[in-house]
Amino acid sequence: MTSAANPSSSGDRYSVLRAQGYHLVGSHSAVKTCHWTREAILGGEFCYKGKFYGIRSHRCLQMTPAVSRCSNACVYCWRILPSERGFPGDDCVVEDHPVKIVEESIRAQRRALSGFKGNPMVDRARFREAMDPKHAAISLSGEPTEYSMLDELIGEFARRGMTTFLVTNGINPRKLGELKEPTQLYVSLSAPSEEVYRLICRPTRAGSWKMLIESLSMLSSFSCPTVVRVTAVRNLNMVDPEGYARLISSASPTYVEVKAYMHVGFSVTRLGFESMPSHEEVLRFASSIGEYAGYEPVDESPISRVVLLSRIGKPKKVS
Ligand code: SF4
Repeated sequence: MTSAANPSSSGDRYSVLRAQGYHLVGSHSAVKTCHWTREAILGGEFCYKGKFYGIRSHRCLQMTPAVSRCSNACVYCWRILPSERGFPGDDCVVEDHPVKIVEESIRAQRRALSGFKGNPMVDRARFREAMDPKHAAISLSGEPTEYSMLDELIGEFARRGMTTFLVTNGINPRKLGELKEPTQLYVSLSAPSEEVYRLICRPTRAGSWKMLIESLSMLSSFSCPTVVRVTAVRNLNMVDPEGYARLISSASPTYVEVKAYMHVGFSVTRLGFESMPSHEEVLRFASSIGEYAGYEPVDESPISRVVLLSRIGKPKKVS
């Protein structure tokens, strides 16, 4: 079938993503090997989620079931946004089945990593393990809750013994309400107020802030660990820690991650290098939010400029 929404057909509109190392899967999904997966296969350290939660980065599958479906246009997003550079969003006509997405995503990951086989620097044991991913980071690009069978997708990963970290921008509370619980659920919160939210997330859907607040209020109903993730951009949203704390307290997530905006990818077409805060600035800002919200700083990763706040002490490792 050759349809506008089928990225695997020839002459496709996703060449800009391929050029960035995305491996398109089916009609609307994609896989991309994470920097830290590569580092780990070469015997290097794991990512900060390895440090905080025990994720083994060489066995992590970074994917999305909604490669270009997102109704927000966050200025700090490192992905190319629909409407940028002739990269249109896709109103996917036919959604792929979750089993097909999982199978083809794992196959795409194996293909992408096979290039390491001949590399003398590779940690052989990790290379073997990497061929059998044990964790899915459902956070590559787009908004995963736009995929109507997200439930079954999480279920299919679980059926294969894989853990799942799901990251959502929170504007589909109804979908969140019917969601099969992932191993860990993230909701992005990049503003202490609707005014700042409009400035930084540039929502295209009416009522997005209200829906985000509704999603935050649902977090305490989840039994899996929940995380509010703040992406901190200097001179833009590193303001009003008390405002953030009010929203966080109402949501009562298990953890709060405050992470620096990183000047990478397509975000460099929207923000300058000076928008990237130092780790020390992130630490000060996070501690201030924590003081107001009653959360303790329990871990940090200076290389990733991220601080972990918790209301229950240090996290248990997921693997
Ligand atoms: S958890 Fe995230 S940062 Fe860590 S290896 Fe997976 S995609 Fe990369």
